Amino acid sequence: MKSREVKVAGLTIGGGTPIKIQTMCNTHTQDVMPSVEQCMEMAAAGAELIRLTTQGMKEVEALKEIKKILRERGIETPLVADVHFSSDVAIEVAKVADKVRINPGNFAKEHSVAQSQFARFIEVCKEYNTAVRIGINHGSLGERIINLYGDTPLGMMKAAMEWIEMCIDNDFYNVVVSLKASNTIVMSTAYRLLWKAMQERDVVFPVHLGVTEAGNGDTGRIKSAVGIAALLKEGIGDTIRVSLTENPVNELPVARIIADYFYSGEYAKEKITQRHYDCANWDEFIIKASCDFGPLLLDKEIDDFTVTATCAGEPVYAEAIEEFKDNLQQAARRKFTKPEYIACPGCGRTLYNLEETFNEVKRRTSHLKGVRIAIMGCIVNGPGEMADADFGYVGEGKGKVCIYKGKEPVLRSVPQEEAIDALLKIIEENMQ
Ligand code: SF4
Repeated sequence: MKSREVKVAGLTIGGGTPIKIQTMCNTHTQDVMPSVEQCMEMAAAGAELIRLTTQGMKEVEALKEIKKILRERGIETPLVADVHFSSDVAIEVAKVADKVRINPGNFAKEHSVAQSQFARFIEVCKEYNTAVRIGINHGSLGERIINLYGDTPLGMMKAAMEWIEMCIDNDFYNVVVSLKASNTIVMSTAYRLLWKAMQERDVVFPVHLGVTEAGNGDTGRIKSAVGIAALLKEGIGDTIRVSLTENPVNELPVARIIADYFYSGEYAKEKITQRHYDCANWDEFIIKASCDFGPLLLDKEIDDFTVTATCAGEPVYAEAIEEFKDNLQQAARRKFTKPEYIACPGCGRTLYNLEETFNEVKRRTSHLKGVRIAIMGCIVNGPGEMADADFGYVGEGKGKVCIYKGKEPVLRSVPQEEAIDALLKIIEENMQ
């Protein structure tokens, strides 16, 4: 069964229409003109939806202004507001944005309170013709669901289905759903369970795919391609976001290659163990090869594979191929030869240079095979989203960082200049 069609302003998601690619601003939403400029760059790079963080009422006002300026400049790309925790903000921004992303389970600790706030929110969305994404991440499951089903793909699916049922009961169908995780097995399992549950329910909402906290560079691209491709191959997925800890504009060509590869019909539909690629550049090669071999490794259909390639007519050296293969084995969670980095893409809540910090942490920890290190932009969502990291570097406000060991904050309010050293010290102390 195909997914339903959902209208987001002039854009249709689902119903067998082509996969839509999207990204998210990392500007502060209150900085209206830098946000407008970034949206324009994203639209020019092919973004079909653009999300902005909306943490409070000031950001709702700023989003209104950003939308107005973009429309005056002829940019019609639908804008999505990203809201966490506050149903009041979600309700206000539903009058402004074309789509609102929420996890209704975080509206209130008490489930019945969250339910009544969600019902109010739905009424406003109906009135303003606003679409909704129910976005449940592995790291943001509520206490009630964790007590019932554990911190598991099943719990993620069950949480989503509860809110889906409520949308159906309230006759609201302008809904997209996502169940992201940084671990490609958790992510693909959760989406498969959700897809099955929606089929059985006979109401299939479009699905937004993504691997959260995928990191940057080759590893971020490879991890995203593995998780997204595993599902697209099965016909699951109507819109995709590749999250990279880089300039968000860089996410769009990666998402485009993944989506186009599926339409080209060239991707491996059968079990294969070797392939040659002639690609325009390195990124195209690693993304296509990850789409082909990543899902086969992830689902344990193969253990190893052989690839050869040319990029811009030049043969790719064996060392580069080996490095790619190691990264792909790790992204598919089959063989761990390096540290595992969990880094959020950053957004308007990030108050430090995330990309620079992440690269520095990577440089100084590259020898720590198998250790899971998280670099997160903010203390509001970071600790939850970094899931099963062994150690974490989490932005705690202007110039301050909190260092985590597992789920415990062990050093609070560390000045940013000292924070990488502090993280390394904690890692060393605990690795002896
Ligand atoms: S964890 Fe990162 S992407 Fe998520 S809200 Fe915080 S800063 Fe933004």
